Order: sequence, then structure tokens, then C-alpha cells
Amino acid sequence: MFHRRETIPVKVGNLTIGGSNDVIIQSMCTTKTADVKATVAEIHRLEDAGCQIVRVTVNNKEAAEAIKDIKKQISIPLVADIHFDYRLALMAIENGIDKVRINPGNIGRREKVEAVVKACKERGIPIRIGVNAGSLENHLLEKYGYPTPEAMVESALYHIRILEELDFRDIIVSLKASDVPMAIAAYTQAASTFKYPLHLGITEAGTLFSGTVKSAAGLGALLSMGIGSTIRISLSADPVEEVKVCRELLKSFGLITNAATLISCPTCGRLDIDLFSIANEVEDYISKLKVPIKVSVLGCAVNGPGEAREADIGIAGARGEGMLFRYGEMIRKVPEAELLSELKKEIDLIVEHYERT
Ligand code: SF4
Repeated sequence: MFHRRETIPVKVGNLTIGGSNDVIIQSMCTTKTADVKATVAEIHRLEDAGCQIVRVTVNNKEAAEAIKDIKKQISIPLVADIHFDYRLALMAIENGIDKVRINPGNIGRREKVEAVVKACKERGIPIRIGVNAGSLENHLLEKYGYPTPEAMVESALYHIRILEELDFRDIIVSLKASDVPMAIAAYTQAASTFKYPLHLGITEAGTLFSGTVKSAAGLGALLSMGIGSTIRISLSADPVEEVKVCRELLKSFGLITNAATLISCPTCGRLDIDLFSIANEVEDYISKLKVPIKVSVLGCAVNGPGEAREADIGIAGARGEGMLFRYGEMIRKVPEAELLSELKKEIDLIVEHYERT
């Protein structure tokens, strides 16, 4: 487990972001929020995949009203994404939202900001300040000339101070940029400037392939420094993919304790079985497991036994068959056609064992 930088803990529904808590996985619905049925269905799919907090856009009255019905049908905390309109924030709060993403400096007159802060305080609802390199305040663009990490941190401080002046400290901050080095620099500076928990993200990262690489590069660098209390991967794809990538990234740093890991070889000329299909099927099979087991899928016996020793369960291929390993011991040989089903049975047994103990 990478040491996490200590931050102020902030409660969001039944979860706490920051402090010494695990990094929390978030995603955002792609549905029209007012379409309660579609939104709830998408949230259930996200929750199944391991999403812990979900955000919806609240861009009109209908969306704000829908929150009440959505909340009744989901169990993870719900966040309202609001730009400028304080009345939508008040409606979302009234309807039971768990967190509001709004920049106080963009709300307008002081009494409007005060109304939102007062409503959040009364219900114990935190506010996420979302700084975005692409929409910095004019006074900062005039000062810095163009978006810079320093300008982003100054923007965060500008919004933070507005909330602190109103004695509000349930604050979470994001500093998103689509430029990876800029995002890394902004988050690093922010982490040494204030103690509010940071919500990590590379904005407009791209498609499933390019966005995953870009996000892993940027957010991986930050996670390795112990920065980040909550995370969202932004992809032009089904948001379930965002959650899967988040889990995989957190696993890489030992920051998730309830996920299974796949070890699979790249294959080479020694291969005698259809390893790619098996590895993909196993990856899919274990993706929803909530236990920290390691499964290895190796093409041959050259590295198989060695790698299998590191795993709870694994296979090593041979000509037309495979060896099944459990905790480093070969337990039996299985014909290739039965390799996958036998491995799944063994995975189920290990999962059962974990769940019992
Ligand atoms: Fe090649 Fe075997 Fe190594 Fe896979 S485990 S890369 S098949 S030598």
C-alpha cells in the first residue's frame, strides 16, 4: 500500500473521502438525469462494477427534481454537477443529494453563495470545487496569460477562500486538465498547499484506449506520490469502463483491497494453447470479484510454475492441455477444452474460502 498523504476527512453520504481512507472510485452517468429509469439502471451497472460514488448532471429543473426518485432507488452516494445556477443547487440539496460539485466563485452575488453554503451546512453536504484548465477565471488568464498549474491552484484557493470565509470546510477539490504534465503539476502543488482531499482526474482524456493510457500515466504518477483521495477516469466510452480502469489502476498500486488481479503472459513461440481467449475470459470472470486473489494464466511450463507460486490459482499451458496450480502446487492436468471451466471452478472455491474466513 502506497502511503497516502494525510488530508482532512470529508463525509459524503455513508463514505468518507480523505483522511486515511481508501481511494474512492467515482464515475458519472451519461443518461439524461430527468430520465429516472435509465439513470437508475446505469447507476446499478456502475455500482456492480465497483463504482462507489456517482455524479449526475443537474442542468435543469427536471434533473434537480429527478434526484428525489433516483435517491430512493440507489445505495451509493449521489453527486450533483452544477454550473452557475444556485437555484438548481438548492433544489438538488432539498431533494437529498449527497454532494454538490459547484464553484462558489461562479455562483454570482454573495447572498446566492451564502444560500447554497447554508443549505449544505444544514444537511452536512460537502462541496467539490472543480477547477478545470479549460475554464479558468478571466482574472487568472489575464494574470498568467494562459492556463498553468499555478493558475489552477490559485483558482482552487480563490474558491476555497469564499467557502472558508463562510466557515465551510467540507471541501473536496479537483484540478483537471487534459494535458497530463499540467495536471500532475497542478495536483502536486495543490497537495502541498492545502489539506482538503483531492479528487483526481484527467479531463477529456479520450477513448477507451487512449484515455486509459493517458489517465494511467497522469493519475498513476500522482497515486505513486500518495496524492489523491478519490478518482474518476474520464473516457469517451461506457462509464462502466471508467470504473474498470479505476479499479485496475488502484490495484497496480496496492490501493484496493477488494479486487482480484490477473497475471497473464504475453505469449511467445512456445505457446501451444489459445491463451488470449482464456486470459480475456478469466479477466472478465474475475472483474467483479470483491476478494483480493491473484489468478495467473501462463502459456507454458517455462514460467508457469514460478509465476503460479505467486498466485492463488493459475494455469500453465502445454500441448493440448494445461496444468492447474493452487498456491504454487500443481493440483492436476486438464485437457485444453476444460481448462477455463476448471479454472473458474477453482476460482469459485477460493472465493468461497475467502468469504467464509
Ligand atoms: Fe512464452 Fe511460456 Fe513465457 Fe508465455 S510463459 S511468454 S508462452 S515462455
